[in-house]
Amino acid sequence: MAQAKGYAAQSTTSPLAPFNFERRELRADDVAIDIDYCGVCHSDIHTAENDWGGSVYPVVPGHEIVGHVTAVGDKVTRFKVGDIVGVGCLVDSCKDCQACNAGLEQYCLNGFVGTYNGKDKIDGTITFGGYSDKIVVNERFVLSVPKALDPAAAAPILCAGITTYSPLKHFGVKAGHKVGVLGMGGLGHMGVKFAKAMGAEVTIFTRSESKVAEAHKQGADHVVISTDPAQMAAAAGQFDFLLDTIPVQHDLNPYLACLKYDGVHILVGLIEPMEPPVHAANLVLKRRIIAGSLIGGLPETQEVLDFCAEHGISCDVEMLDIQNINQAYERMKKGDVKYRFVIDMASLKKGA
Ligand code: NDP
Ligand code: ZN
Ligand code: ZN
Repeated sequence: MAQAKGYAAQSTTSPLAPFNFERRELRADDVAIDIDYCGVCHSDIHTAENDWGGSVYPVVPGHEIVGHVTAVGDKVTRFKVGDIVGVGCLVDSCKDCQACNAGLEQYCLNGFVGTYNGKDKIDGTITFGGYSDKIVVNERFVLSVPKALDPAAAAPILCAGITTYSPLKHFGVKAGHKVGVLGMGGLGHMGVKFAKAMGAEVTIFTRSESKVAEAHKQGADHVVISTDPAQMAAAAGQFDFLLDTIPVQHDLNPYLACLKYDGVHILVGLIEPMEPPVHAANLVLKRRIIAGSLIGGLPETQEVLDFCAEHGISCDVEMLDIQNINQAYERMKKGDVKYRFVIDMASLKKGA
């Protein structure tokens, strides 16, 4: 066992605070990693505050992890001490079902183990995430971070990046398509970059007038202020795909009206009932589809890291000392971050 330091939420309402715990002994196929950077995903907030139910406290969030290898188990073949590596949202799965064999570990038929708030398949302990100084992960769930990427800016690719890349690729976004991205936060700003890199014409739907100029800087061709009914009406019937990163319940109907016939509304932000209800006419009359998508499997996560290196894509990050994590959560809830907080884990050493 190795002593680890981190930050944890002890209950639904308690702020994150310093927390000492143990990381497991290396198993034969494990990689031990000292964490250098960890991105802050809105899912961290949902879990710390138990928005989705099922949080087991203490919760140590964090699933956008970049660090360096400090030790490897006897059977590890892909990594060696010193390698710069990443860990995303998954740390285990059955590794032998149809989904796992297809590299879709996120849809493992026997259930995946999340990087935090998951249950270890071997010892039954609850997993602790990347808001900590070190982690031990099965080699299959460890990614290589290309040297061309800045390691801090690469961290959010492990969740925000793969979550937006995967559905755009799955649905075949390409030149000639019109793609709308709903919400310009951590996921949304990466969605814009990927949709552009795939050749699409991209529109940001945002509530925030203040993000208009920056949306264009991110590469968006157009911006729609979603709270302005006139702008929404003008966007009707235009889009092949909408990538919806909005993290709370919202009315899908005005967005569905923006799709062409056969258009696809891809949900990644909402993991709650659709409220208000979707009017079926918005689907039936135009053969539209509402789809969902969960992160991505390990091969595709490596692919998106390599894609970012090749296309010069990285996340726009605001570096954070871990002592300021609670203020960062409050700012994220207001949509006030450009566009991903990344914790510099060296700050943990500054003490509580
Ligand atoms: P952020 O907080 O970084 O961004 C969300 C954006 O949505 C905000 O910047 C804001 O954009 C917009 N938004 C926020 N609140 C509202 C609201 N009340 N109404 C309309 N728009 C709103 O979050 P992330 O990008 O980190 O995560 C987005 C969602 O995706 C979360 O729910 C997260 O849990 C989920 N997620 C899902 C994954 C999956 O695999 N499916 C993986 C990772 C995350 P603007 O100011 O431009 O309007
Ligand atoms: Zn995430
Ligand atoms: Zn499986």
